[in-house]
Amino acid sequence: MARITLERIGHRYGSAPYALEPFEMELRDGRSYALLGPSGCGKTTMLNIISGLLRPSEGRVLIDGRDVTAEPTAGRNIAQVFQFPVIYPFKSVFENLAFPLRCRGWPSARVTGRVEEIAALLGLQDRLGRPARGLTADAKQLISLGRGLVRDDVAALLMDEPLTVIDPQLKFQLRRKLKEISTRLGLTVVYVTHDQNEAMTFAHEVVVMSAGRVVQRGTPEDLFERPSTTYVGYFIGSPAMNLFDAALGQEELRIGGVAVPVPAGWLARAPSAAFQIGIRPEHLTLAEPGDPEAVPAELLGVQDHGSVRVLELRIGTAHARLKLDRDRPLPPQRTTVRLPVDKLRVFVDQALVA
Ligand code: ATP
Repeated sequence: MARITLERIGHRYGSAPYALEPFEMELRDGRSYALLGPSGCGKTTMLNIISGLLRPSEGRVLIDGRDVTAEPTAGRNIAQVFQFPVIYPFKSVFENLAFPLRCRGWPSARVTGRVEEIAALLGLQDRLGRPARGLTADAKQLISLGRGLVRDDVAALLMDEPLTVIDPQLKFQLRRKLKEISTRLGLTVVYVTHDQNEAMTFAHEVVVMSAGRVVQRGTPEDLFERPSTTYVGYFIGSPAMNLFDAALGQEELRIGGVAVPVPAGWLARAPSAAFQIGIRPEHLTLAEPGDPEAVPAELLGVQDHGSVRVLELRIGTAHARLKLDRDRPLPPQRTTVRLPVDKLRVFVDQALVA
């Protein structure tokens, strides 16, 4: 497949401010990337620059080292899947898949062989003779994907929120199928979504964006464990990372005015300026009786999330959330929690301190 290099790419629509501020990025061969961020942050702009639908106002796009900045989509060997399936409703599934090959003048026997191969990959082999219009939305989206993949020279697969119109029940299956197919074919995939769950479960690497900037790029684990900014800590994870204004006492850290015991070495490395502490709701735990590091907390409420419950707590004046497995008993209103020191993240001016 392909290595995609975005070299000092930036984009403005006309004289408007940057929709995408200049940045560098290399997308490695055979890996999948999710572009994740809220509406208007520049995901589609970046995707369209990679596909060739949009020419960037600055920088160059290279595919396997070849400069394709001025080339239209057709010259880039890129397959695309959009929010809404792109199919011919009155043609059969077979003819939908065959169409790009017929346009290229492939002989009939070769078309049949290739269409059958791709249909088997997509799990559509039993529906080849049926008209596409009668199929479910997820099957139509698979046809869109198949039309992109049926050529034998695909360099990369780009997907722009491909699960938007899919039933919640079918979303999980289709996402698994998309992942399975792209892995099997060793495709370089770029997948746009504003759904962090989709991004984290689909991609090898997630590119988190905000207001036209790439804020952090990393594996789902990196983003979860070491968010580079409070924005990423807050945006990734459900519920979001707890963020507390913190202060240093003589021999302890203070959160919401309450002492949190930490080792002397930790205190020695703590910043002297104002800072925030981040801890994931998954890492904040109820303390066992007699735990010397227990911190007093008050239970304010409980949200039921099915297999887990989210406890709303107050630690001094700070508000916190703690995730508790459903099979664990709820604590009393006056309780104690533990903040494992290895899970505390320190932020100064919203940026992670190493
Ligand atoms: P969404 O999730 O809503 O699709 P996005 O993250 O994909 O959003 P973009 O569509 O890339 O964001 O838009 C980035 C910025 O550029 C936004 O401020 C948007 O209004 C602006 N923009 C996008 N397309 C155009 C255009 N054709 N002309 C002018 N401005 C545009």
